[in-house]
Amino acid sequence: MASRADLAELLARSRRAVVFTGAGISTESGIPDFRSPGGVWSRMKPIYFQEFVSDPAKRREAWERAFSGKAGWTGRQPNAGHYAVARLVARGKVSAIITQNVDNLHQDSGVPPERIIELHGNATYATCLECGERHELEELRTGFVKAGEIPYCRRCGGLVKTATISFGQSMPEEPMLRAEAETLACDLFVVLGSSLVVHPAAGFPALAKRNGAALAIVNREPTPLDPYADLVLHDEIGPVLTETAPPD
Ligand code: ZN
Repeated sequence: MASRADLAELLARSRRAVVFTGAGISTESGIPDFRSPGGVWSRMKPIYFQEFVSDPAKRREAWERAFSGKAGWTGRQPNAGHYAVARLVARGKVSAIITQNVDNLHQDSGVPPERIIELHGNATYATCLECGERHELEELRTGFVKAGEIPYCRRCGGLVKTATISFGQSMPEEPMLRAEAETLACDLFVVLGSSLVVHPAAGFPALAKRNGAALAIVNREPTPLDPYADLVLHDEIGPVLTETAPPD
């Protein structure tokens, strides 16, 4: 049985670690895991990218969800796990965080944005699908709530959508390439709170392992990669990381 001390030991030996985070690190902040029973997708149907683009009624529904906070993805605070990861980045131990989360909590915990690779985008702001211009949700909310206006880009008039990667939308190329480069450059790959079932994201820990890095997995439930990992802890992330990367 692996212990928290073994994880601390792996971190101490590592010269360049990568942290990979999934929903499990944010459930401790009160953000529901959208795949679990009781999660977002058991309460409402996802709106596919093609539906958003082609159907104004679906766009309206998507914005209603975004502004009502119905999905519960935003508006929470980082927890002990996020802060411990932020310390590891600040200490130069972790070169990058690859995350499946869209909640902005790594940024909110003080990690510089250039260290965070978001595979599924970010739900706390919006971007234009044509020109990429960033739009703040607060700015868009007024027109939508007061006048029922579906947001369009202030720069080019294109469709604006929350900056998440929707079902049916292709994975963003730049973050995928950066994630691969960081994975290949690390000597320790630490999975925190991901069930490692979503592809292609789940391919990164396997790639790290094949490339000779050590693989550590901290997740409440077993994952398909547990048999290949150097260390597995079925435990809560906040307490585990606070003990293995304590504050100064
Ligand atoms: Zn635009």
